[in-house]
Amino acid sequence: MREQSFKIVSLLVVLALALLVAVEAMWSVRTYRNMRNSYEQQICSILEEATWKYATNSMNGDAAINIGNISRFHTFVGEGLRTSGLATDFRVEVLSTTNADDIMIMSMGELPANEDIISVDKRLTPLILRLKVTDPHSAILGNMKRMIIMQGLSVLLLIIAFSYLLHTLFRAKEVDRIRRDLTHNITHELKTPIAAAQAATEALLTMPNITNDPIARNEYINISLSELRRLSGMVEEILRTSTEEFTTAELHIEECDIRSIVSDVRSSLNLRYSTREITWNINIEESCAVVADGFHLRGIISAVVDNAIKYSEDRPMITIGAMTRSGYTYIIIEDQGIGIPDSEQKRIFDKFYRVTKGDKYTTSGYGLGLFYAQSIVGRHHGSITVESTLGKGSRFTIKLPRYGR
Ligand code: ADP
Repeated sequence: MREQSFKIVSLLVVLALALLVAVEAMWSVRTYRNMRNSYEQQICSILEEATWKYATNSMNGDAAINIGNISRFHTFVGEGLRTSGLATDFRVEVLSTTNADDIMIMSMGELPANEDIISVDKRLTPLILRLKVTDPHSAILGNMKRMIIMQGLSVLLLIIAFSYLLHTLFRAKEVDRIRRDLTHNITHELKTPIAAAQAATEALLTMPNITNDPIARNEYINISLSELRRLSGMVEEILRTSTEEFTTAELHIEECDIRSIVSDVRSSLNLRYSTREITWNINIEESCAVVADGFHLRGIISAVVDNAIKYSEDRPMITIGAMTRSGYTYIIIEDQGIGIPDSEQKRIFDKFYRVTKGDKYTTSGYGLGLFYAQSIVGRHHGSITVESTLGKGSRFTIKLPRYGR
C-alpha cells in the first residue's frame, strides 16, 4: 500500500470513529431530554391521579387538599411514584395561598403528626402544592442504564475493530516496505557482478589487444569467472535462506566438531573479504562438539560471523568462543562493530528485517541470515540471543543441546 493511501485510510478511520462517538453522544443527550419530558409528564399525571384518589376517598367529598389531611395526599403521591418506578425519594412542599412565605416541607420520613399540622394552620386554608423529586437525573439515567451500556459496548467493539484494522494496515505497509527494500537490494547486489562479468566478456570479444595477449586474456577470463561465481554464491544464499524449506526439511543429525566448522567458516570468509584486514581471536575448548545438522550449523555460524564482519568498520576484530556447560554447547561470536540499538535487538531475527540508519541501510543484505539462524537453532531445541551496545559491538550466543534431542 502506498504511503499516501495509508495516510488517507488512517485519517478516514479516525474521522469515522470520532463521528461515531459524536453521533452516539448527541443521540444520548437527545434521548435524555425526551426521557426527561416524559418523566415530567408522568409526574403530572401522578399528581392528578393522587388528587383524584384523594377526592374520591375523602370522607366529606371535599376535593380540596388542606393542611389538616395532607399526609393522605402524600401517601397517594408516594404510591403513584413507586408503582411507575420513577423515584424513591420525594418531597411535597405546601405553599400557603394566603402567605407564600409560609412554606412547610414534608417528606416521606419526616411527616409531622396530623395534630401538629392542624395546630400550624387550623383554618384549613386551600393550598398550593409542589412535588419535588430528589435527584431526578439518577432516576432517568437509571432507566437509560441498559441502553447506555449497550451503546458503550458497541462503540468499544467498533473502536477495537477499527484499531485492529489500522494495525493490520500498518503491518501490510511495513511488509510492503520490506518487500520493496528486498527487491531493491537483490537487484542492486546482483547487478554489480553481472555488469562486471559482462564488461570482461565484451572486452575479450571486442578488444584485439586483450584477445591477442594471453596474460590479459587470462586475467579477463578470471575476472569474468570470479564474478559469475560470486553471482552463483549470492543466488544460492538467497535460495537457501529465503525458501521456507529449511523450516521443514529433514535434518541430518551428526556429531559436529565446532573447531573444524569454525576454521572452515573463517577460511571462506577470509577469501570473501580478502580486501579487509580481519583479526581473529578464536578460543574453542578442546574437542568441543555438538550433535546437530552439520550443513546448517555451518550455515548459521557463517551467517553470524559474516554479519560480525559486515557490520564492523574497516578492521573487523572477531572473537569466536565455544564451550560445553551443563549439557549445552555454547558458540559465542563477538565483534567490535557498529552495534545494534536496544529497540531493534528483538526484531533483527524477523524475516527480512534490517536495521536502518535514518532511512538508509548501512550495508547490503536481505535480512534473512538471522531469521534462518533462529529457525534452524529452534529446530535443534536451542536458542540464539544477542547482547549489543550501539557503537561498541555485538555478541551473539548460540546455545544447542550437546547431545541433540
Ligand atoms: P542482513 O545482514 O542480510 O541484513 P540478517 O538477518 O543477517 O540480515 O541481520 C538482520 C539485521 O541485524 C541486519 O540488517 C543488521 O542491521 C543487524 N545485525 C546483524 N548482525 C549484526 C552485527 N553483528 N552488528 C550490527 N548489526 C547487526
